[in-house]
Amino acid sequence: MELLRPSSPEEATGALGNGSRALAGGTELVPLIRDGLVKADTLVEIRDVVPRGVTGTRIGAGTTLAELELDGEIPQALREACAQAASPQLRSMGTIGGNLLQATRCWYWRLGFDCWLHGGETCFARDGAQREHAVFGNDKCASAHPSDIAAALLALGATLRTTRREFAVAELYRLPTDDDRNVTTLAPDELILEIELTTPDASTYLKAMDRRKWSFPIVGVAAARFGGETRIALAGVAPIPWLLDSVAILDEATPLPGTGYKVEIARALVRRAIEAI
Ligand SMILES: Cc1cc2nc3c(=O)[nH]c(=O)nc-3n(C[C@H](O)[C@H](O)[C@H](O)COP(=O)(O)OP(=O)(O)OC[C@H]3O[C@@H](n4cnc5c(N)ncnc54)[C@H](O)[C@@H]3O)c2cc1C
Ligand code: SF4
Repeated sequence: MELLRPSSPEEATGALGNGSRALAGGTELVPLIRDGLVKADTLVEIRDVVPRGVTGTRIGAGTTLAELELDGEIPQALREACAQAASPQLRSMGTIGGNLLQATRCWYWRLGFDCWLHGGETCFARDGAQREHAVFGNDKCASAHPSDIAAALLALGATLRTTRREFAVAELYRLPTDDDRNVTTLAPDELILEIELTTPDASTYLKAMDRRKWSFPIVGVAAARFGGETRIALAGVAPIPWLLDSVAILDEATPLPGTGYKVEIARALVRRAIEAI
């Protein structure tokens, strides 16, 4: 395998696609390559070409979660989401750009089962182990999106700047379809460069997890208040981060037999998050 170290975003995007992948902290990509779930003959290290650090309301996509959890200037929801993600070691290496693009933790997918999301015919979780799975958007793939940070950015109404375009974080994600099983809209040769934040009056991130530390969200709830408007987004409940247009939408959840408890947890956390902000 070849490792490239480009010195500009243009050089990096020129080297991406066709069997090469962008490498940031590597905490997600390296295990996926090791396990044969991602094939890559070339890794394009983007550490020197993607901005890092916080400038006002702009966050470089190469900023680590550890840097963000300590930054008193960014909204509380994002800080709390970073502080509750993964472990200190992973947060020291893992970047916010890589976090937004992490793959599902569904064990059927991670163990290489020929499931629907891998291009097969069947979602094995539907009749199998499904406790961690989705309660929304789950008719084809019932996986639960694991990013705490994506839910926080969704509630904050953040936008992304890539090497090609600027768009709302919500538009980074799409529910997979029979024709296109990707859950993001990013092109193979497109890099996320920066995240632009809005500044809410108040925000918070609450997370239910199996352990108090180093655990993916069973349900994560981000809430942000802008004047009279409150935006709420959930992690761990759908194949993509899920914006809750209103609290009443929780009544429209479509849980699997084993995931109904997540709806009750979401109700409780949404109530607490709204009280907190
Ligand atoms: C054991 C474990 C527990 C975890 N727990 C949590 C958790 O509780 N909550 C949570 O939210 N996350 C959790 N994570 C995810 C972790 O936060 C991510 O692995 C990390 O943030 C990814 O960042 P990275 O820089 O290492 O990405 P990499 O591994 O380098 O890259 C990941 C993917 O993103 C692509 N990529 C990276 N940066 C860019 C960019 N700027 N533009 C375009 N593509 C890019 C890569 O090509 C690759 O496909 C956990 C991970 C592990 C391994
Ligand atoms: S939930 Fe999605 S990733 Fe998991 S087995 Fe079903 S189709 Fe595959």
